[in-house]
Amino acid sequence: MSGDKYEFFKVIQDTLAQAARVVSLDPAVELMLSQPKNEIIVHFPVRMDGGEIKLFKGYRIQHSNILGPFKGGIRYHQSLTLDDTKALASMMTWKCALMRIPYGGAKGGIKFNPREHSAGELQRITRRFTHALGNNIGPDYDIPAPDVGTTGQMMAWIMDTYMNTVGHVNKQANRGVVTGKPVSSGGTLGREKATGQGVVHCITEWARETRTNLEGATYIVQGFGNVGSHASMLLSRYGASLAAVGDHSGYLRSEEGFNPHKLAEWVRQRGSVAGYPSGTPISKEEFFATKCDIFIPAALEGQIWVEEAKALQCKVVVEGANGPTTPEGERVLLDRGIAVIPDVLANSGGVTVSYYEWVQNKRSESWDLEEVDGRLENAMKRAYNEVVSFARSRDCDLRIAAYCCALDRLQAAYRERDIFP
Ligand code: NAD
Repeated sequence: MSGDKYEFFKVIQDTLAQAARVVSLDPAVELMLSQPKNEIIVHFPVRMDGGEIKLFKGYRIQHSNILGPFKGGIRYHQSLTLDDTKALASMMTWKCALMRIPYGGAKGGIKFNPREHSAGELQRITRRFTHALGNNIGPDYDIPAPDVGTTGQMMAWIMDTYMNTVGHVNKQANRGVVTGKPVSSGGTLGREKATGQGVVHCITEWARETRTNLEGATYIVQGFGNVGSHASMLLSRYGASLAAVGDHSGYLRSEEGFNPHKLAEWVRQRGSVAGYPSGTPISKEEFFATKCDIFIPAALEGQIWVEEAKALQCKVVVEGANGPTTPEGERVLLDRGIAVIPDVLANSGGVTVSYYEWVQNKRSESWDLEEVDGRLENAMKRAYNEVVSFARSRDCDLRIAAYCCALDRLQAAYRERDIFP
């Protein structure tokens, strides 16, 4: 039920077990993938603007590095838990394997509400967290990126702190310690919009397959941060209309459709959709019941329970967020004939372009936007079609298919390498 505690890590472990049965995964490989390799917890003090010292709890979970360095975002959120971070880290392993990127999976974050802190405090919190992590991150070992509550600005602070402390000997070679950096600090063109862009590639592939005309189609979006806003702006280029939107501050609906560019600018300046001078405020229940073709959850995990799944009036749910659909909710959606394009596939555009950024840093190159966009489009379409073909051939849903494609690759590596010693 909505409001219940979502046992995110257990859900990921259960999905792994289901997919393992489909691909007859070696039980030893399943066992190794069922838990992260390293769980790092740090507590670090930071001086606040008023002079007092606060203690913060930070996590870095390194799930797997069988296919390459640990890789995954850093989340700043007041309800972050160790188990959620373990779930998110595991999903990064599946995502990178599915996308054929030479990375493993990781995730980290700090349990606090970044909205309650000044820019100066955020900088000191980020720098102390980076210092506390020390050699647990590194450009060839574990590479963080933005996630909920973090932006390119925080990545620039992480990079700068790392360069000037742990890795000052090879200062320039350490640029790749994080991805999702601002372009002027060594980031890549196309990274900021990459996750939303990947979501939209999945939508255009789905529309092609189902012969849905996106011109005049409607969509609703939960969460209007990096993923939700970019997905909305890019989807509007196809002539689709944003019928309802919401974030932590509330929900809005518009008969004629919102201009996602103007809304994104509003949110950039004010931090939420609250007070936007167009559309009508609606309840969360009304948001979920809004008639539309496409629903893009782009906020947090555990948002679509049975109630929401019964209320939704869309044809497809495209998971911009990680873990937005509960297994109970997904069963209802699939029974109702609503397609679900799962997170592991739908939001993998972010880590894919993060990888392009890392390659550019290593080679001291800067690619033009067309190159980044073209590579991402090919990668997303290939993965989408691989997952859809697998699901058809094995008669399973797309989530299980995405896990299976990833597990095949992970199992191959374990078979070749076995375990040490
Ligand atoms: P963000 O911080 O930029 O935006 C998060 C959005 O969610 C905000 O609009 C916020 O108001 C909203 N939100 C928070 N709590 C909410 C609640 N209780 N109800 C409704 N809305 C709420 O974060 P983001 O980077 O856009 O990430 C969103 C999701 O996408 C997360 O699940 C994240 O893990 C996933 N994701 C992000 C990336 C990336 O590149 N940033 C990549 C892959 C997956």
